[in-house]
Amino acid sequence: MRGPWLQDRESFDAALAVHLRGRSGDTTVIVLELMDLPDLAGTYGSHTTLAILGEAGDRFLEIAGPGAGDLTARLGESRFAAIVTGLGNRDMAFRLARRLCREMARPITVRDVRLAPTFCVGASYSEGHGETATELADQAETALAEARRHGPGAFCLFSPDMEDRMRRRMLLRGSLQYAIDVQGLHVHYQPIVDLVTGRARAIEALARWNHPELGAQSPADFIPTAESSGMIVALGEQMLRRALKDRQGWCRAGLDPPPVAVNVSAHQLQRPGFVEMATRALAEAEARPEDLELELTEGTLIETTDAMLEQLGLLSRMGIALTVDDFGTGFSSLRYLRDMPVKRLKIDQYFIRDIGDDARDFSIVRAIVAMAGALKLEVVAEGIETDTQRVKLLEAGCRVGQGYFFAQPMAEAAFAARLRDAGV
Ligand code: C2E
Ligand code: MG
Ligand code: MG
Repeated sequence: MRGPWLQDRESFDAALAVHLRGRSGDTTVIVLELMDLPDLAGTYGSHTTLAILGEAGDRFLEIAGPGAGDLTARLGESRFAAIVTGLGNRDMAFRLARRLCREMARPITVRDVRLAPTFCVGASYSEGHGETATELADQAETALAEARRHGPGAFCLFSPDMEDRMRRRMLLRGSLQYAIDVQGLHVHYQPIVDLVTGRARAIEALARWNHPELGAQSPADFIPTAESSGMIVALGEQMLRRALKDRQGWCRAGLDPPPVAVNVSAHQLQRPGFVEMATRALAEAEARPEDLELELTEGTLIETTDAMLEQLGLLSRMGIALTVDDFGTGFSSLRYLRDMPVKRLKIDQYFIRDIGDDARDFSIVRAIVAMAGALKLEVVAEGIETDTQRVKLLEAGCRVGQGYFFAQPMAEAAFAARLRDAGV
């Protein structure tokens, strides 16, 4: 690798500080990370990997420009940094980050192996208004972390709201772990009903979290956080146990609840032990497999592993019905419908919203119903808010659904009262 390279963040910050002191113009800090280092090292060994890193470093230097001078650094094993001056404005810094990402993605030939390593790029830009070296370097690292969240090949230029979001995410992550540990999450229940009689056919359990300072958090936000941090395994187990326990309570009170449907993340099924956990939870709540249903979002079914398929097979053979949630919004691979023991498709609310006015939505729903019929699968619609939508769904051949039109998700006590009063 051509040099000279500073070897750590401390020397980089020190060099950046000297650089900032000596000039009045703008400064861009670029940080680049090779994303698949462990895979490359595992496949090609350390010599080839070192050669790849060398090539990547040279290319980085070439693109970051001669202006990078001696202000380039290796920050850790797979991370490079450079300082570029005089780009002129923020937009140019953005373009440089984008170009770096694009150019770094070109295949690299090392020891006769042609490889296409993937990189992420983070950058920060200062017009020279007094940011310290550490601040600028931290900002570039924050941007890199944000880019990494978008996946391989992404780039980000730092903006202050990015830091706020990152801080909020970190705060949420810490308090979510705490909430899981102290069983501070709640379950709300929403019936899934027969669109003609209004009787409940199942009860969906939905996670709820009231943050002590930030207020009610949407699962749409905290479930992805739980998934990316691995906390979803504990969270999902808690939800499943809680839902079965609550159902047991309703049975003991002499009510006759339909099955509970629990949302399951692919992360839970990718590790062994889910089937055992569910079996234990059923036994502890004196429930039969038919009393439990599992909802898996379509997106998660695309990336199936053997372990996951095996567990899904076991669950289905036990008599636990599997529903594909948010159907129609994943990657539209129909392979899993053939290969997996799915019982039901839940049409995403995206197609239900305008079903009264939009003929295309109506046609899509009708086509899903026809396909499900041919495959002997049941269909459910979610997000029904009006009687018009209910009527249209019946017209399309869908007989079961869920939505605010029938009932909002509600706390356990409210749901018990509903079961008692309405018998559904
Ligand atoms: P989902 O499983 O598709 O759940 C349906 C979502 O639609 C719920 O949002 C529900 O409150 C909402 N909804 C129900 N009826 C209506 C309606 O008429 N109109 C509209 N606009 N929305 C309606 P929620 O509770 O915010 O949950 C969002 C997603 O979070 C769920 O989508 C599910 O994918 C995930 N989730 C929730 N709880 C869990 C859990 O315990 N484990 C896992 N893995 N995921 C969960
Ligand atoms: Mg669901
Ligand atoms: Mg859904």
